Amino acid sequence: MKTIIEPFRIKAVEPIRMTGREEREAILERAGFNVFLIDANDVLIDLLTDSGTGAMSSEQWAGVMRGDESYAGAKSFHRFYDRVQEMTGFSHILPTHQGRASERILFQVTAGPGMVVPNNNHFDTTRANVEHSGAKPLDLVIDEGQVANSRHPFKGNMNLERLERLFEDVGAERIPLVMLTVTNNSGGGQPVSLENIRAVREICDRHGTPLFLDACRFAENAYFIKEREPGQSNRSVPEIVREMFELSDGATISAKKDGLVNIGGVLLFRDADLAQRARNLLILTEGFPTYGGLAGRDLEAMAQGFTEVLEEDYLHYRIRSVGYLGERLTAGGVQIVEPPGGHAIYIDAAAFCPHIPRDRLPGQAVVCALYRHAGIRAVEIGTLMFGGEGNRPEMELVRLAIPRRVYTQSHIDYVVEAVLDVFDQRDALRPLEIVDAPAQLRHFTARLREVGS
Ligand SMILES: *Cc1c(COP(=O)(O)O)cnc(C)c1O
Repeated sequence: MKTIIEPFRIKAVEPIRMTGREEREAILERAGFNVFLIDANDVLIDLLTDSGTGAMSSEQWAGVMRGDESYAGAKSFHRFYDRVQEMTGFSHILPTHQGRASERILFQVTAGPGMVVPNNNHFDTTRANVEHSGAKPLDLVIDEGQVANSRHPFKGNMNLERLERLFEDVGAERIPLVMLTVTNNSGGGQPVSLENIRAVREICDRHGTPLFLDACRFAENAYFIKEREPGQSNRSVPEIVREMFELSDGATISAKKDGLVNIGGVLLFRDADLAQRARNLLILTEGFPTYGGLAGRDLEAMAQGFTEVLEEDYLHYRIRSVGYLGERLTAGGVQIVEPPGGHAIYIDAAAFCPHIPRDRLPGQAVVCALYRHAGIRAVEIGTLMFGGEGNRPEMELVRLAIPRRVYTQSHIDYVVEAVLDVFDQRDALRPLEIVDAPAQLRHFTARLREVGS
């Protein structure tokens, strides 16, 4: 059979509240043209993020009932620990409430003023946490990773020459660690090849510098390696995942992505001293090291999620359903970041509405139009998210992130129709300006207005 079906059936449903265009116009205005300030109940198809928005399986919900809520050494912690150890090979395993908690602790124990942290592309919270430590985040993705229509199979790869040059320019003592984000979220959900991870490892070894993974989407990355990297197609996904982790000295993980849970995170270390310092900080702000700010039931759900996410039927469905959306949009003439990434489709907003200059937020104009027209919530990843204070992102993107196991193909067909309708009317899209915004992570709370309306 050629048709790929969702490898699950639905046991519980959640109604979607239908809204009309006029109602949405008023809602958008009230929210200051910032979709983060719109209530979920006012959204038809919510593609704001794939983070923590997935559907848990019946086995995960059963785990929720099994959760051991003991303060110290709960059975649920051991199930979580054993699963993560088997999957990654690490033995210093700290649970945290989510990815950014892992990041804050990691950079607090490793980075500081005067230091530079290279990454393929820092995710927004990672960048903010590096800056919070006083260090400077630096993005060193390969050139192809900055061009929407280049079809390189591993556009998340690190530019090895630039990394090597950075070591020569600033010196290894000012580089506390090198980070690789798999898959590269801010660069279009693009994978990093095993070959590239090995090469970064080799550079790090030569300079005595640790390599950390921002491993939020490690399973999707491993699936791309299996599909696209020469010599990898006969290996199992768990084997590839294990090698990715074995090549690193530690990792931060948001389990809200490939952990298939609604809340949870992990922090991994190879170095015992570093792990001990991190554990002390964990106790200070997250919780005792065997629960790390989570309930026992959350640890159970994570342990099961880390099992299900490596099933190849699941990954095949996951990657194909995102690819399907990308192919339909491309066929309709919309420029997206190619090839489609693992968890989302990224529309090239600068190509979508060339009449809107970058400082008038073309990405946000597309986001607002999708909400107005069809009640779809997407997110801008461009000047609104990363601009300001002299920063200028490489691309103006609109991300349609697909929650795991939540929407069916007809929901996606609706999204396709909406994007193509807006594309037909693209000359009518309106520029925006910021009225009010904080200095850091401004996209979450900024208020905007449409210019000339
Ligand atoms: C989501 C994400 C984070 C942060 O994780 P949270 O659980 O949202 O705190 C960090 N890095 C990447 C690449 C992510 O996608």
